[in-house]
Amino acid sequence: MKQLWLAAPGRIDLREVPLPSPGNGELLLKIKASLTCGTDLKAYLRGHNLIPMPGPFGHEFSGVVAKAGKGVKKFREGDEVMAVHTAPCLKCPYCKKGLYNLCMNIMDSKVLGAFGQYILLPRRIVLLNTFKKPKTLSFEEAAFLEPLSCVVHGMGRLDLNGPAPGGKDETALIFGAGPIGLLHLLLLRARGVRVAVCALESSRLKLSKQLGAEVFFKPEQAREGLSRFAPLGADYVIECTGRKEVWESAPEYARRGGKIMLFGGLKKGSPVVFSSDRIHYDELALMASFHFCPEDVKKAYRLLAGRKLDVSPLISGKYRLQEAEKAFKKLSLGKGIKYVIKDQK
Ligand SMILES: [Zn+2]
Ligand SMILES: [Zn+2]
Repeated sequence: MKQLWLAAPGRIDLREVPLPSPGNGELLLKIKASLTCGTDLKAYLRGHNLIPMPGPFGHEFSGVVAKAGKGVKKFREGDEVMAVHTAPCLKCPYCKKGLYNLCMNIMDSKVLGAFGQYILLPRRIVLLNTFKKPKTLSFEEAAFLEPLSCVVHGMGRLDLNGPAPGGKDETALIFGAGPIGLLHLLLLRARGVRVAVCALESSRLKLSKQLGAEVFFKPEQAREGLSRFAPLGADYVIECTGRKEVWESAPEYARRGGKIMLFGGLKKGSPVVFSSDRIHYDELALMASFHFCPEDVKKAYRLLAGRKLDVSPLISGKYRLQEAEKAFKKLSLGKGIKYVIKDQK
């Protein structure tokens, strides 16, 4: 079978690799659609500690069961399915506490290689994090299950359903209008929260407006833009740029008692500096979000399957496997949000 490998930063090879055969509890999927993600772009540009190089990559996908291993009860050949690329062990101390996203063994089950013709899903993923795709959902939309699960997890941490001083008039300011910023926008709008978006690229700001942002502005207008939108500061400030200076300034945009979600990861070991005054006297909550729990994946599945969110405007184009490098070149220039990579057009 054909599979894309990240050979070195900036170099993608199309390789011929052996077709795996599903063991006990495993599923072999024929991939119908996979999506590029910010993590893949980072790995393509400078390497990534969770994506070994040289090696296969791509982790957002949907497909059709090509072969089910012994003991698989939920699925059979020909089923259209959507899945994520990890599942917790359910046995480690963190799993025992219900902190499944922090499972000590979560990366053992991880599968990479969605940019290819087939992918083998291990037993744990088949049991916990694989679902039948409704016919009404396209394979491309179904491949959003993984990134949406990450965002659903972060939103759960923000606890939008908790006591909300702003009531229906809750406001959020999102920094960054890449795939993760825009998925936050879709989810917040679905909850009725008013959203402002701050981003660098005009085309992405326009898209945020189309997706329901009430106001949008470039970073140099952030203060003025926010003061008109939420004079006290936003109830939620959501950092989706992965830039140190944005992490450091994010608390300045929250209202007293506001919550700041630091979603975009920084380079390993990056120190960040916040002024303690606002965090202390204004009781700001700084929080971060990593990965997702099976419960988040279920919620994300229900949102997609029930068509509660329309993720299709986030798809900027489609490329065949052998053309995938074009998609990454575009992304590295800030062009487009997510690209579909598939074996056949
Ligand atoms: Zn991803
Ligand atoms: Zn565990």
